[in-house]
Amino acid sequence: APRVRFAPSPTGMFHVGGARSALYNWAVARQSGGTFVLRIEDTDAARNKPEWTQGIISALAAIGISAADPAFEGPYFQSARGERHRAAARELYGAGRAYYCDCTREDVARRTGSQHSGYDGYCRDRGLSPEAGRALRFRTPDEGETVVVDLVRGTPAFPNAAIEDFVIARGDGSPVFLLANVVDDLDEGITEVIRGEEHLSNTPKQQLLWQALGARPPRWAHLPVIVNDRRQKLSKRRDKVALEDYLAEGYLPDALVNYLMLLGWGPGGDREIMPCEELERLFRIEDVTASSAYFDVRKLTAFNGEYIRALPEEEFAAACAPWLRAPHAPWDPADFDPAAFAALAPLARTRVAVLSEITAYVDFLFLPEPVHDDPSWAKEMTPAAGQLLADAHAVFSALASWEPDTLKAALEGVATGHGLKLGKAQAPVRVAAMGRTVGLPLFESLTVLGRDRTLARIAAARQ
Ligand code: GLU
Repeated sequence: APRVRFAPSPTGMFHVGGARSALYNWAVARQSGGTFVLRIEDTDAARNKPEWTQGIISALAAIGISAADPAFEGPYFQSARGERHRAAARELYGAGRAYYCDCTREDVARRTGSQHSGYDGYCRDRGLSPEAGRALRFRTPDEGETVVVDLVRGTPAFPNAAIEDFVIARGDGSPVFLLANVVDDLDEGITEVIRGEEHLSNTPKQQLLWQALGARPPRWAHLPVIVNDRRQKLSKRRDKVALEDYLAEGYLPDALVNYLMLLGWGPGGDREIMPCEELERLFRIEDVTASSAYFDVRKLTAFNGEYIRALPEEEFAAACAPWLRAPHAPWDPADFDPAAFAALAPLARTRVAVLSEITAYVDFLFLPEPVHDDPSWAKEMTPAAGQLLADAHAVFSALASWEPDTLKAALEGVATGHGLKLGKAQAPVRVAAMGRTVGLPLFESLTVLGRDRTLARIAAARQ
């Protein structure tokens, strides 16, 4: 059974690209009775923070990847394995597969006449002692080629002569990423390395290390880069990339999983929205595309809306609960009325695409004054609208029953008197009572708002 891994470096928020890699690894492990290893690559003490590690673990749990599942193994911490990494470096040196080098970057640039050329092999046969070296370099073969089995990209072949003698450990003996990453994969028995395309150029070097350490290399899969609407690689400076931010804004975990699974892969046919278990079952790493995947936030949002509409009533209310309290909700907690919310929740559910939008739909119920968030609202309050509101106030005041149907019939009468369609007559009433120019259906909303507050707000708006 396959053993795969997800090996994030805890240097920031959890990127949606990382989440996609994790999900693909998870699917491969779970669909074949395999194992998913979580390995935290936390050797860069200057950039790592324990809270980022905790963030990764909780974000993974939010999308269904956690130690609660028997397929999950770890987390292992790379920083705990420094001795083993050093031993591997010594082993390669002892076997003549690596040598010490004291060249500076400038030395190499001067000799090769370029800032960007690889290492020129100057120290290969100088026999420098460990004490004299600034770095330990791997001696790559001069002949032959390294053929990488990539489940996404076929079997690219790299001529060994073109692979530079790369650094595997620093002068102080501490190993660099290329080596530590291989040693951990090897010791953890990883059979498929599924990771982002940015690591493609490391792969021939790493495969040589696997072989030099006497092991059979894994199969690789390099997942396509994720781009924004301008076809730029998604970046945390430019784009909203943190999974935590999407979760905090009210994207549902299932919608995120569904959308992320489709970034580079599809189940075929035109069905895109489907349960996570089904996606996991249908996923095939061999069918992942090599071309870049567009992260379309609007499409993700549309998916989310569909997932919200599919939620049972009680689950929707439960999912909204965090947004109905501080710090999200703008109203005084004492003014929140669960029954009033419950009365309008079914209508809100069909309109909300992201849960955080819920407050704007219902705030007119819990704030002392309606919020006008659209500057164009004042346009609704023309003198003609003022007269219409006066008439609406009069007929509403006279109503014996305060129900959607009776309110509607009453306003229809007013509209006719003004030579207006009902929709036109609703606009100033909506702005007066609810503040916003768009929102939940008017008559249901006024029913829940109640007679006294509705009349008071209409009266106030006329002034
Ligand atoms: N720590 C590396 C990263 O986050 C892992 C690379 C790999 O998956 O091999 O990019």
